[in-house]
Amino acid sequence: MSASPILPGATIGFLGGGQLGRMTALAARSMGYDVHVLDPEATCATRPVASRTITAAFSDVQAAIDLATQCDVITLEIEQIHPDVLAAVAEHAPVRPGREPVYIIQDRLRQKEWLAQHAFPLGAFMMADSAEAIAHAVNTFGPGIAKSTHGGYDGRGQVRLSTPEQADGAWHALGGRTCVVEQLVDIDYEISVLVARRPSGGVAVYPPSRNHHTGGILTWAVAPAAISEAMAARAQALAMTIAERIGMVGLLAVECFVTRAGELLVNELAPRPHNTYHHSERGFATSQFEQLVRAICDLPLGSTELYAPSAIVNLLGDVWLHDTPPNIPHALEVPGSRIHLYGKAGARAGRKMGHLSAVGDSAQQALSRVLESYRRLSPGTTDAFDVHEPSLPQH
Ligand code: ATP
Ligand code: MG
Repeated sequence: MSASPILPGATIGFLGGGQLGRMTALAARSMGYDVHVLDPEATCATRPVASRTITAAFSDVQAAIDLATQCDVITLEIEQIHPDVLAAVAEHAPVRPGREPVYIIQDRLRQKEWLAQHAFPLGAFMMADSAEAIAHAVNTFGPGIAKSTHGGYDGRGQVRLSTPEQADGAWHALGGRTCVVEQLVDIDYEISVLVARRPSGGVAVYPPSRNHHTGGILTWAVAPAAISEAMAARAQALAMTIAERIGMVGLLAVECFVTRAGELLVNELAPRPHNTYHHSERGFATSQFEQLVRAICDLPLGSTELYAPSAIVNLLGDVWLHDTPPNIPHALEVPGSRIHLYGKAGARAGRKMGHLSAVGDSAQQALSRVLESYRRLSPGTTDAFDVHEPSLPQH
């Protein structure tokens, strides 16, 4: 049982006010919490939902303390928060997730080394602090991806290499800083698993989501994942063990690859709500956003039961930049579909502006509907963004 839950009426502070903060803040608001946010952008997506917005860098200790002194609990929607900021904030309000798991996760190399030390399954990787070291990695395990240790997302800060001769270019493209070179995994399909943990010990795990990326950016996600029960159970057990070992309070998303040889490998971790679980707002008993609020407030975690197969497709800025503007009414004619927009002002190529969602009688139908909705919304962008419908395996 919880010693001291943080009850509705209290104020939740968010470090980071992007779409993840916004959707969590909306869930917090519906439960009767007040919301404050700190973000470097004055017009951040969470601003309209928050009663107080502090515009400051994530390295600004004083601003973070200012946030914490008026809040009952602090959470984050981005892992790039300096450990000193989290330590300072923790003097004034509980920070969930805490400093340790965020510190491990926020550096890709540190995260991989931690996973390797704890014997979690990973693809081959090497640290590289020079072009020669990148070339050595590719000579050792063949084609790979060099990834920045900090700040990469949506495939940014990554360079693919097929030969060691490309190492020089990759090193310079990544700014001449230490990076991780990963062996290119022979992926059959990608899944993720979301785990919630509360301070007093309760844990909840969601059924896996099946995910598809185009050029390193999530295109669509669907649950159920259309994988065997054995693989789902393996992935859930793996994610729960990682969440426990790393001491996560709040949400932990574990991105996984399943190789053509049937191996389950961890790709990366995220200590926050995750793009691949946006369908949890549609198909699950408890959305990931409400679950995060429950977890950080030490309330009983909600059921992770799947009520209806559900899927999402991301909407990138490209949709608004195209000659043909998005046809929202046409998209919403698809049964079971909805549009979610994050209220961001500037559409830029590759910037996540919102998503479409759909429910259906099966994973295939939910996915089919949401992809149809996308093709209606933005027929001109379907070549660059892979929204062709795959045939999901039957299990
Ligand atoms: P995000 O934080 O948005 O999830 P990211 O920028 O951290 O993304 P990754 O998760 O490392 O990027 O990679 C994005 C996608 O690129 C993966 O989901 C996968 O589709 C592909 N990818 C990444 N690493 C590998 C690899 N080693 N082998 C094969 N494909 C990979
Ligand atoms: Mg990823």
